[in-house]
Amino acid sequence: MTSYLSLRGVGKSFGASRVLDGIDLDVEPGEFVCLLGPSGCGKTTLLRIVCGIERADQGQLLLNGQDIAGLPPAARGFGVVFQSYALFPNLTAAQNIAYGLHPTGALAREMAKRSREMLDLVGLAAHADKYPVQLSGGQQQRVALARALAPNPRLLLLDEPLSALDAQVRASLRGEIRALQKRLGIVTIMVTHDQEEALSMADRVVLMHDGRIEQAGTPGELYHRPRTRFVAGFVGRMNMLPATVLAGDRVRVRDSELHCAPVALQVGAQATVGIRPEQVVVRRFGDGLGANSFAARLLDTEFLGNRTAARLACEPLGIEIEAELPADHRVGEALVPSSMVHIELPQHALSVL
Ligand code: ATP
Repeated sequence: MTSYLSLRGVGKSFGASRVLDGIDLDVEPGEFVCLLGPSGCGKTTLLRIVCGIERADQGQLLLNGQDIAGLPPAARGFGVVFQSYALFPNLTAAQNIAYGLHPTGALAREMAKRSREMLDLVGLAAHADKYPVQLSGGQQQRVALARALAPNPRLLLLDEPLSALDAQVRASLRGEIRALQKRLGIVTIMVTHDQEEALSMADRVVLMHDGRIEQAGTPGELYHRPRTRFVAGFVGRMNMLPATVLAGDRVRVRDSELHCAPVALQVGAQATVGIRPEQVVVRRFGDGLGANSFAARLLDTEFLGNRTAARLACEPLGIEIEAELPADHRVGEALVPSSMVHIELPQHALSVL
């Protein structure tokens, strides 16, 4: 089956530095894909290659099965929104949006009508005649989005569109962009280095590292079934315990044995056991001494509003464990630093990497 957009073995170097190395990615109709990764991993370069501003050294770029690598950006018919709003300061919001329609050869009357429709779509109907300087950052970014969407692009490309905005505006625009994307069904690729943004907006997250795709999957897959230590460490927080594989479903951490889900690693292999802080169970000392339970000393707690973060020293495992508990969590009495508790690392919650 042909995907809507396919990247096959895309590679790119700048001088001696290999920035993208064998990128294979298929994007399906209606999908919202986020390219996520640390600074310098190559996500912007990849987006620029899709957009046509940059040319790949190797590989293929197919849209509906047709090679578009040779097409200049304007001929691709893609809408692009950058971090800086890049609006024309001397044009009003409505004129900025209409500007995006020029290449389609639309008549002035049609352009004005479409521009009003798009302003409506992004909730700025009342601001049509304002100049960028009279609009807030969030409003300017909505105009930029409307301008990109006005010509009915075949693909929407977003390069860190929210990172210049303050936290509250960013959070509300996240939801708006996601809802708009679903309503229009427009295939969208967004670059971000913000994992929360990627997890909350994307249908599929493509986590990049050093010019390669480390893992691509739904937000839930990346969070709950990370395939590598890098993914486990980059997406959310994870306690990592150095371990040795004892059998298909058991590992040793220091002198203790932990039961885990079946692993594909060989007996004797060195591995890492990961567990998310919110999956660590904290009980009163002496309670629940089943499998994977260990005594631990509470080092300190941190108030996080609806949750409490707790740092625990677990001697049998030889490491500090971070746990995250509901704010009203009790272990008989309130959690007091230095008190002893029992923790359980549930078998189903362990990732062996
Ligand atoms: P960031 O989040 O910091 O923007 P990124 O993952 O988007 O990072 P890119 O901008 O794609 O990363 O850059 C990847 C690497 O390629 C970096 O090391 C960068 O310095 C280098 N690079 C990007 N563009 C060029 C260029 N035009 N010339 C030389 N090197 C470049």
